[in-house]
Amino acid sequence: MKRLIIGLLDWLFPPLCAGCSQLVQGETFICTVCLTSFPETDAHQLVDNAITYHFAGKATITYGFALYSLRKKSHLEQVLFAMKYKNQPQTGEMLGQRYGNILNQISIIQRIDAIVAIPLHPKRFKERGYNQSDFFAQGLSASLNIPFYRSCIARIRYTPSQTTKNKVERMTNLQGAFQVTAPHLLTGKHLLLVDDILTTGATLSACTNALLAAGVAKVSVATIAVVEA
Ligand SMILES: [Zn+2]
Repeated sequence: MKRLIIGLLDWLFPPLCAGCSQLVQGETFICTVCLTSFPETDAHQLVDNAITYHFAGKATITYGFALYSLRKKSHLEQVLFAMKYKNQPQTGEMLGQRYGNILNQISIIQRIDAIVAIPLHPKRFKERGYNQSDFFAQGLSASLNIPFYRSCIARIRYTPSQTTKNKVERMTNLQGAFQVTAPHLLTGKHLLLVDDILTTGATLSACTNALLAAGVAKVSVATIAVVEA
């Protein structure tokens, strides 16, 4: 019955690819052409890479991973925008599964004890109805077979949009923004902290520093995309 209803809905409102707006088959949000054209970073193949470089002088991270390189006005940018603002968080889960299958190829990934996601401030969560990074974390957790710890860290300060701020302003703006709410679960663990997009690294650095200060042993970082310099 469910299949029949989905089939009927697909016929009435054919699903469009979030990247290129072409028709796609079934319950998917990204067409195969887009998916195979997104540039992968291969960051998992090097311990020092373009991702870890973003954190130099800001936070001590152990490993840094990002699935794709993000170019302005690309189909990938459209996909990530739809994931965040157009109620398509399932895209994040799908990309998390996809990245998990890639990260499973490296043995160091098994050193990670749990996955945590950058939280939204409750006010922003209410506006959006979901946290896109939770979906990415879920996808990674399922394919890596590493637990996803929800709600262990909270965003306690509402920070206005970061996009118009310079690097120093971004860091200052985020000081004291995160609070670890379940330190007993995280003490001594190696966590994989995930977010959707890595731009300057200010948000992930602030969260990493809060986690390390609360007794977390190591923090590694994974994002869906890193903005191309
Ligand atoms: Zn497409």
